[in-house]
Amino acid sequence: MYRIGQGYDVHRLAAGRALRLGGVAIESDLGPVGHSDGDVLLHAVVNALLGAIGAGDIGLHFPDSDERFRGADSARFVAEAMVMVRRQGLAVVNLDATVIAEAPRLSPYRQSMEGRIAGLVGVEGERVNVKFATAEKLGPAGRREAIEAQCVVLLAPAEESREGKS
Ligand code: MG
Repeated sequence: MYRIGQGYDVHRLAAGRALRLGGVAIESDLGPVGHSDGDVLLHAVVNALLGAIGAGDIGLHFPDSDERFRGADSARFVAEAMVMVRRQGLAVVNLDATVIAEAPRLSPYRQSMEGRIAGLVGVEGERVNVKFATAEKLGPAGRREAIEAQCVVLLAPAEESREGKS
């Protein structure tokens, strides 16, 4: 049986914080305020994976009240979510995500982000797509007060998802 999940996350932006997206370090004057490394894209990925297996959300599994997760590399959250996915005999078919940020320009980082996420969820790079949108200067993302990400992921039984390499 196929399973689909969607994920969303938002982080406040502040000066002097390191910006990481999809596990990739991004050059930026602003970065996320967060308990972990604040990687909004990986958090949306985790929410999508957990959603697809009916396992709640990132806050349930990795609460920001937990000192163990202070400054944590969010790749660890994706890896742990993938353990839960595999435990159910499932694997990722494909993953599609959007980052909503007014600046900086993110397209130069697209390939690295897609490659990093593909590695984390165990698929070839062409099965991961990362899109970028500005907010047309509207709302918190448009004013650079926040950065947002959305993600959808499709899961299939582990054997089936390996059929047809692309
Ligand atoms: Mg988050």
